[in-house]
Amino acid sequence: MEVRVRYAPSPTGLQHIGGVRTALFNYFFAKSMGGKFILRVEDTDRERYSDESLQDLYDTLDWLGIKWDEGPVVGGPYGPYIQSERFELYKEYAEKLVKDGKAYYCYCTPERLEKVRQEQIASKSDYQGYDRHCANLTDEERADLEAQGIKPVIRLRVPTEGKTTFHDVLMGDITRKNKDVSPDPILLKSDGFPTYHLANVIDDHLMGITHIMRAQEWIPSGPLHILLYEAFGWEPPIYCHLPMVMGKDGQKLSKRHGSTSVRDFRAKGYLPEAIINYVTMVGWSLDDHTEFFSKEDLEKCFKIENIHKAPGVFDYKKLDWFNGQYIRECSDERLASLCTPYLQEAGFISKEETEEEKKLVLSLIPSVKERMKVLSDVVPLTSFLFKDEPVTDKAVYIAKGSNEENTLKALDEGSRILLSGLKEGKAEAEIEEELVNLSKTLEIKVNGVFQPIRVAITNSTVSLPLFDSIRLLGLDETERRLERAIKNFKEN
Ligand code: GLU
Ligand code: ZN
Repeated sequence: MEVRVRYAPSPTGLQHIGGVRTALFNYFFAKSMGGKFILRVEDTDRERYSDESLQDLYDTLDWLGIKWDEGPVVGGPYGPYIQSERFELYKEYAEKLVKDGKAYYCYCTPERLEKVRQEQIASKSDYQGYDRHCANLTDEERADLEAQGIKPVIRLRVPTEGKTTFHDVLMGDITRKNKDVSPDPILLKSDGFPTYHLANVIDDHLMGITHIMRAQEWIPSGPLHILLYEAFGWEPPIYCHLPMVMGKDGQKLSKRHGSTSVRDFRAKGYLPEAIINYVTMVGWSLDDHTEFFSKEDLEKCFKIENIHKAPGVFDYKKLDWFNGQYIRECSDERLASLCTPYLQEAGFISKEETEEEKKLVLSLIPSVKERMKVLSDVVPLTSFLFKDEPVTDKAVYIAKGSNEENTLKALDEGSRILLSGLKEGKAEAEIEEELVNLSKTLEIKVNGVFQPIRVAITNSTVSLPLFDSIRLLGLDETERRLERAIKNFKEN
């Protein structure tokens, strides 16, 4: 049996970490099984639909390098793969259910349904929901309602007795009493639009989906879907509901925790390989020690059995760490071209990027590479080279455990050591040692000497290694900035 899985997002918002993880799990499972990964756009909710979300879906998967075997744009034997292009089909199947007595037309007005609901609340009825008013209309009654021009919905006839069980690969058997399944849910709305449940089940069946991997929040829909498969007389696929993605506080990952849209991560400068690697590790592992996986690795080794049952925790710090690792693995050339848009955006280099600027950016890379967590870090790290905004607040120069007086001494004496050393061509290690000795003489920590020097030169507390900064800035400019800082310290 060929494995066929699908990622079936609704384009009602930007692709977020949880959704992309679902896509990745499906994709890697398909690849590792030699199967097919299908993309289906579930755009039945026309009110929440947006073109921007659909474009974001395509852009995100493209950026990650996740290619779908069948789906929009590429097509395939079971298309169309966009639900709004399949409405006729859902109608046909819903009407077939009516013919078979598994579903029925309901003519209730919203006003009547609201009245029923209010009465249920008032009488504290333990039965909530649609009262099955239209479940057994006679042909005459129907004809009469049709004659009045009322457009019916189609509702599924959910058995009132018995139980429905579905098996989930991770969770085991999940059983619900049929009376607790939503009473006779709408399958087809009066305007002919399908609901999620109908379209989802029909498409999974017609597209030959073998395994459904989706977020755990869809578990409550499971029994209803099984009842739908039964009503159609179809074999349900294998279910594998994925553990939730949580923030570190144990709450479902949301904007409260930080960025969740992949577009945001991309904009900040996360690399696709870091996102793929880390996001796949949220709720999945190969063993208890392997951390680095390329996309190609995962295409081979991903197994459903290794999906965790417990919720996965999305740790932003851990992602930063992964991203830093992947940044350091980039060639200087690639990193230079990845950093360029950030430098252009900051106005440090021109939009045209001249040959000279290209060379300049490339020359920065060896120094910034080690210090970057995200690509956008290149801006604060190199900004001292492109603009000169001296720090005037003395407190920024003063390291922990030092004071104003010692900071001035460190700046004054330290500059002399540094500049004369460099002019004489002393080795960096030697100059560094002399600076360390200065801190000992002043009886302050090493940073008490290095911090003010660094702030003076780079106008910032986040910066490149000291000697790299000086090399990039040039000795004259370094000297000018150091003198300026000393003057500022003395005069203010
Ligand atoms: N369209 C649903 C969603 O956005 C798909 C759920 C499923 O995979 O069945 O999550
Ligand atoms: Zn009704």
